[in-house]
Amino acid sequence: MHKIARILVPINHIDFLDYLIPEEANINDFVEVPIKNKKLIGIIWSILDVSEVPIEKLKPISNLLGYSASANMRIFLEKVAEYNIFPIGKVAKLVIPAIVKTPKKIRITKNSELIHNIKPLNESQEKAAKKILEYKDTYKAILLEGVTGSGKTEVYFHVISKILLEKPNSQILLLLPEILLTAQGLTRITKAFGDNIYVWHSGITPAQKRDMWFEVLSGKARIIIGARSALFLPFQNLSLIIIDEEHDSSYKQEEGVVYNARDMAVMRAHIESIPIILASATPSIETILNAKLGKYEKVHLAARFGGAVMPDIKIVDMTQNKSESKWLSDRLLEAVKAKLAKKEQVMLFLNRKGYAPLTLCRACSYRFMCDVCSSWLVEHRKERKLKCHHCGYKIPIPKVCFGCKEENTLVALGPGVERIEEEIKKIFNEARVLTLTKDSLKKSSDNDEYLNKILDNEVDILIGTQLLAKGHHFPRLTLVGVIDADVGIGGAEIKGAERTYQLLHQVSGRAGREQIKGEVYIQTYYPKNHIILSLKDNNPEHFIESEISVREQSEMPPFARLASILITGSKLEQAENFARKVVSVAPLYEKVQVLGPVSASLSRLKGRYRFRILVKSEKNFNIQHYIRSWLEQIKVPSYLHLKVDVDPYNCL
Ligand SMILES: [Zn+2]
Ligand SMILES: [Zn+2]
Repeated sequence: MHKIARILVPINHIDFLDYLIPEEANINDFVEVPIKNKKLIGIIWSILDVSEVPIEKLKPISNLLGYSASANMRIFLEKVAEYNIFPIGKVAKLVIPAIVKTPKKIRITKNSELIHNIKPLNESQEKAAKKILEYKDTYKAILLEGVTGSGKTEVYFHVISKILLEKPNSQILLLLPEILLTAQGLTRITKAFGDNIYVWHSGITPAQKRDMWFEVLSGKARIIIGARSALFLPFQNLSLIIIDEEHDSSYKQEEGVVYNARDMAVMRAHIESIPIILASATPSIETILNAKLGKYEKVHLAARFGGAVMPDIKIVDMTQNKSESKWLSDRLLEAVKAKLAKKEQVMLFLNRKGYAPLTLCRACSYRFMCDVCSSWLVEHRKERKLKCHHCGYKIPIPKVCFGCKEENTLVALGPGVERIEEEIKKIFNEARVLTLTKDSLKKSSDNDEYLNKILDNEVDILIGTQLLAKGHHFPRLTLVGVIDADVGIGGAEIKGAERTYQLLHQVSGRAGREQIKGEVYIQTYYPKNHIILSLKDNNPEHFIESEISVREQSEMPPFARLASILITGSKLEQAENFARKVVSVAPLYEKVQVLGPVSASLSRLKGRYRFRILVKSEKNFNIQHYIRSWLEQIKVPSYLHLKVDVDPYNCL
């Protein structure tokens, strides 16, 4: 042991520790180090002449792993920490597996074994693939846009196979929203690339994660498909990144290290000097603008593959509803009846779990709230529970009002999917109804079971939440009813309008994907809202233009920069006073507005009071640098939390 090294360790706020390393060890080597009674993996960050720790107190590392992080990986780590204003030790936790074990001998797969069955492309797809491949040796972000069924997947499969064959040892990363990483969702990929794919998601065990980590590090894993955290795997020779459904909000991680995997992926592609494909049928506003500004290349796929036609979209003005049901209009019910008579399938969409979102006392107006959050309890009648959707708190459905203690005074207000199911079964008592929410899918095999039921024609009416919006193709489904298009319009989400549009557009696309033209009924109380009008005319351009002008006029992203600082504590006064103190020391800058603190719209969560400060700046201002120098002056007391969210999606 001759050298002293500073080692990056995956521990929040500790970040670096000094150790003795053997002569043959180098910068960027992965090492195993003893910390207290544990062993952790770290990265040799720098070699020191002298440590602040006396040399006799320095411990030697336990082991050299025999692998090192690429120089690009190291830059990526630093940039992620800098961009998202996080200690680098916390980011290292995303990169380094929790279990230490020296890997077994790893066999590398030959290029020719990697590709199994790639479908030939049509003319439009061929053109798109060719355009993308022009950038195969350089950084470029490419927006691959095309409606559902236009064959975006075939295009990027083709690009993957070309790059795999042309570039020895190249590695490809395909990011998908978690929900598509199911067996069913992966069948197309398995068909194309056989068993050579590595799938990384929240369901795999720590031991599997460790093995996969080493397989990526050693270069054995060539095609990696994963949820957002797969971006932090230790690629040695990353050659292409694809983000499918780039607009999907699940790429934004809001717990722990707050980051946007899509944006960090673009950053990684830039560092690695490789192309990145952002695929979507409904791209996000910021990606569209980047394409308009020429920062991204846009590749458009036109016609629907197989020639299916876009559905016929009808807007139902709920103020004119003549039906006895409050939630199912006469027009929608007529349409359902007609489809059932023709033995076709119907899907009713409502993005709200449970039976009713609010239980109210008629006598004293008492509302049932969560004990530890400032939110209403949602009735789940099948489970006989009132539940908090924010923290999981639940109580049995009460018989008496907690306010006035009267009996038989409680009413359920508003519908959730369970209530729609109840009404539908009353009206169409012969119909076979299936209700699906995320809760129905406890095991991954449940998913396949339900899908098969729908495909085998054992279901007439399918009722469900967001879960139904994407991924699967039901050939007999010809009618979609959107029960309440107004959920999500307004609210605390910065991208609320955009997300509602994307979701409803996606849901509408479920209708009539084969030879039969589908019908969509959208129920709303705001038929003149620009989201609804754009859906009606099937005119995404119209929506995008109006949304861009709204953002521009209100100086919201991408025309400005935003960051949110959330301060929470179990005592209201402490949290509020501290939030005020933080604002009072904000550096004054012409280009920056500091707004708040205000009580967050979810003012209490899991027993903690929440105060929000919004920081808004001009588009080209280094907001991270500003916030960093601001927060350096502040010490957060141990009983409070302070969390920064750069480019926030919502302000709940
Ligand atoms: Zn709660
Ligand atoms: Zn009461």
